[in-house]
Amino acid sequence: MDFLEEPLPGVGTYEDFNTIDWVREKSRDRDRHREITSRSKESTWALIHSVSDAFSGWLLMLLIGLLAGSLAGLIDISAHWMTDLKEGVCLAGFWFNHEHCCWKSNTTFTDRDKCPEWKSWSQLILGHGEGAFAYILNYFMYVVWALLFSLLAVLLVKGFAPYACGSGIPEIKTILSGFIIRGYLGKWTLIIKTITLVLAVSSGLSLGKEGPLVHVACCCGNILCHLFTKYRKNEAKRREVLSAAAAAGVSVAFGAPIGGVLFSLEEVSYYFPLKTLWRSFFAALVAAFTLRSINPFGNSRLVLFYVEFHMPWRRKTTKLGKYPVLEVFVVTAITAILAFPNEYTRMSTSELISELFNDCGILDSSKLCEYVNDFNSTKGDDLPDRAAGPGVYTAMWQLALALIMKVFITIFTFGMKVPSGLFIPSMAVGAIAGRLLGVAMEQLAYYHHDWAIFSGWCSQGADCITPGLYAMVGAAACLGGVTRMTVSLVVIMFELTGGLEYIVPLMAAAMTSKWVADAIGREGIYDAHIRLNGYPFLEAKEEFSHKTLAMDVMRPRRNDPPLTVITQDSMTVEDVETIINETTYSGYPVVVSRESQRLVGFVLRRDLIISVENARKKQDGIVSTSIIYFTDHSPPLPPSSPSMLKLRSILDLSPFTVTDQTPMEIVVDIFRKLGLRQCLVTHNGKLLGIITKKDVLKHIAQLANQDPDSILFN
Ligand code: ATP
Repeated sequence: MDFLEEPLPGVGTYEDFNTIDWVREKSRDRDRHREITSRSKESTWALIHSVSDAFSGWLLMLLIGLLAGSLAGLIDISAHWMTDLKEGVCLAGFWFNHEHCCWKSNTTFTDRDKCPEWKSWSQLILGHGEGAFAYILNYFMYVVWALLFSLLAVLLVKGFAPYACGSGIPEIKTILSGFIIRGYLGKWTLIIKTITLVLAVSSGLSLGKEGPLVHVACCCGNILCHLFTKYRKNEAKRREVLSAAAAAGVSVAFGAPIGGVLFSLEEVSYYFPLKTLWRSFFAALVAAFTLRSINPFGNSRLVLFYVEFHMPWRRKTTKLGKYPVLEVFVVTAITAILAFPNEYTRMSTSELISELFNDCGILDSSKLCEYVNDFNSTKGDDLPDRAAGPGVYTAMWQLALALIMKVFITIFTFGMKVPSGLFIPSMAVGAIAGRLLGVAMEQLAYYHHDWAIFSGWCSQGADCITPGLYAMVGAAACLGGVTRMTVSLVVIMFELTGGLEYIVPLMAAAMTSKWVADAIGREGIYDAHIRLNGYPFLEAKEEFSHKTLAMDVMRPRRNDPPLTVITQDSMTVEDVETIINETTYSGYPVVVSRESQRLVGFVLRRDLIISVENARKKQDGIVSTSIIYFTDHSPPLPPSSPSMLKLRSILDLSPFTVTDQTPMEIVVDIFRKLGLRQCLVTHNGKLLGIITKKDVLKHIAQLANQDPDSILFN
């Protein structure tokens, strides 16, 4: 009797930190699809089932878009309010942030965020906001709030969801490539990440919410997959959904739906069929639309910039890394203490970036434009409004100090045990550097407009230079250098700023920064992070150019014990249980007999354990001496012998095989393109060995002179 006609619960699933077999998952989905389609002709109910099954993917995308958009809106509103809470409170209602508080007051447009309802802490406590004591009190409150927020964030992460720290993009990339990390996209991670992201961003640490928003969207995708059997039970299908969720995440993080789809394709996804492209597009669109309807900024615009992180290798060596709470305390204290005196670091990083991108229009009240406006007011109207004014040096000094601070603090912030993205800090660093260069050029053009490079297109007012554009290009270049994004980066920048005419400088910046960064080191931040954490990620971009053969990589090696195999019709339940107990391999080849070593198929350890345990409990007559059959037909048994156990249904009858002489470049290609988990090696038709994905990764590491054992997540 084949008691496994209906799969047992757990059969076909994977254990934590294991690699999935894409080929098996995709073929299971095809089987399921074929069955539903063939049944659909039998009854109306089956037809409805078939139609709803086909439609479920789109419905799931809609739900992901709605949930991700709503959470992003909630995060934006809360973070905005809590960021302003560090400076003061609104008397008209404590839940209003600074800008909303002043909406109803009768202040002018330029003074739109200075109104009587908004009280700084010194005004509230001392009754006035002037003088040294008021400054010190505001400073003190700023630091205290920052510490409170960041400590709460790290304690929540440490206590409830350790996976909620960091940006999550390297891990999502690894999961999408076919690795299982249980709980990484679960409900606790989602709840804690959402709360702590607000806290971390509000604390003023040098981090961004955009990378973590991708993680939040992927958690939404993973949780919503449980509503649909098709996605709940198939790891490959679920990864299609997660790819689309990542696109929705970027869509709401940057307000860039097309950039989100391209980001998912270029940067995070491993398997991205056309169908996923359309669904990602739909999910990104719904998410962006939902966020826009929530209107978190009150200006009908979506979110501005996006962050991911750099230089984790430095952090790995610090002793502080072992004490996450202390680490967060120290870094927040230093950040807050250094940030407050400089207006460019005191404001939130996204605010700073939008100021840096600013073109200093006539109505502009931003600090960066004050010198321009000062200048205009002293000079009168006969010159264009873009030139060197008296305040320029102070502004530039402050910006230069902000640049130094951002670079150093960001290095130490990334990798702390709080949600942290790298996009915003990288963009801020690039934008500051770009703006400084832009202003320097502006000064040159102003004082030396007769120089050959300026002559002909620069008038005396230096109106040919737009420092805001330099900042934008700098931000794109810096982010491109850190992440090595190209197409998606340009599209995100273009969607962020709405400046179609800047596409050419942005493209040039993205390409140049990629070349320069690749010349220094080939890895982008995500790949570096994946390598540092030892995740088993088989990079599709790198060429494999060595001349090794499958026999050089396969196990067992020359002096190892022979390959552990199961025979198709001669092993007892006890024999198989002994193999399971004595070895930890994830699967076993099934052969005709030990002598012939002719391959029949491959059986996964997990499926074997579940099936044997179940048979022992539920099937009558199964004892230690029962023979396990993987064959199609079992021989008739003498009446006195114990019942047999038929396990053909858990046998993979088409395991991938190569010969021992197959060049490794072909094997690596097969692993990459088909998403294999393991491949069996034969010689003259006889089974000889096995190569797993991790064996391939170890081999690549060895050829690159890295320690193969240090690179894998075990
Ligand atoms: P994962 O953790 O994703 O399962 P892995 O590479 O650790 O990947 P295992 O099946 O645990 O997978 O294999 C561990 C090592 O043992 C690998 O080097 C593999 O080549 C080897 N191996 C796998 N199965 C057998 C087997 N049946 N007999 C002998 N060696 C095996």
